[in-house]
Amino acid sequence: MSALKKVSAWSLLPAEWKPLCKELGLPAFRADQIVTGLYQTFAQSWQEITTLPADLRAVLTERFSLAPLETVHIQDSSDGVRKLLLACEDGERVETVLIPSKDRMTQCISSQVGCNFRCAFCASGQLGCVRNLTAGEIVGQVMAACALMRPSLPEAGAPKPGAKPTLPRPGNIVVMGMGEPFDNYDNVLRALRILNDQKGVNIGARHITVSTCGVVPGIQRLAEEGMQFELSVSLHAPDDALRSRIMPVNQRWPITELLDTCRAYTEKTGRVVTFEYTLVKNFNDCPHHADGLIRLLRHMPCKVNLIPLSPVEGFGGERPDDRSCLAFLDALLKAKINTTLRKSRGKDVDAACGQLRLRKQSEKCGGRS
Ligand code: SAH
Repeated sequence: MSALKKVSAWSLLPAEWKPLCKELGLPAFRADQIVTGLYQTFAQSWQEITTLPADLRAVLTERFSLAPLETVHIQDSSDGVRKLLLACEDGERVETVLIPSKDRMTQCISSQVGCNFRCAFCASGQLGCVRNLTAGEIVGQVMAACALMRPSLPEAGAPKPGAKPTLPRPGNIVVMGMGEPFDNYDNVLRALRILNDQKGVNIGARHITVSTCGVVPGIQRLAEEGMQFELSVSLHAPDDALRSRIMPVNQRWPITELLDTCRAYTEKTGRVVTFEYTLVKNFNDCPHHADGLIRLLRHMPCKVNLIPLSPVEGFGGERPDDRSCLAFLDALLKAKINTTLRKSRGKDVDAACGQLRLRKQSEKCGGRS
């Protein structure tokens, strides 16, 4: 069997190991040992799970791949942000970013190689979408971070099944890297369930955020999942004419339909939606744009996150100066809209969505870096 055809161990929900073990004629406690090895010691190969007998490790190696995504490149920013470029088995590359804060590490993960939606200011869409990431590759990005955060291999083997996780792991996950998560719905949801599962990576659903450019059917499906994930929606403009100029998705699902769906999401889940609004100088950052946004959102339970543009090659827009960003923030706060202005972090590591992959891709093709 070729390595590519093997099922990735990281694509399986913890509860799926019991029936698999049964199928292999193994006692149920082996499933617990496997899950503990995967998600409490963050084993990077079957050989590392030393609680399993050697012949079983050989069987598992045959059937399930357990290999870290290869780290092609790490960029460390002066503000502590780390960006990893990881290679999948077929050589495709994905980006993930680690953003430390006082009390926890936030990890931004990718859902696709590239993106189909071609937002004008976003580097991920410039080369289109190459393929969806598998659930194993999405979870694999978090495993790569866990491996980096892991102090050293535990000396006495794996902890007992059910023991509290002790190794450091990201405290927040945001699906805001490359790709549109709702364009790869099934794999993303499977991965998020594994990340959320108490026997999996054990990250609380309220610490997991899915960000969409506005794929209405995806929001509707997520509302029905019975999960407490946070939802972010990239809005970026207060009216259809302006939004359509930078986000082609707006022609398919215009603002009224999008906001109605967000209202229904909140009604169904009790979770308040966050609107992302990337500020682009003289395009959507003027006082009348703030007024338009206030009119749109005034009667809606929501949060707004303002993000100053991170300049991208191929998009002429500029980042507004701090004064305009603060004035925009102030207008929304005065209108009692819960708003934050995101400090741009990781600027010196091409931290905006898809930038590092794009740059490395153009280097590979002999382009300018
Ligand atoms: N496809 C999803 C998730 C990936 S992008 C979405 O659109 O929400 C994550 C966030 O980064 C989005 O809000 C996106 O609009 C924003 N973004 C992308 N490129 C950016 C840039 N150059 N500067 C600032 N924000 C950017």
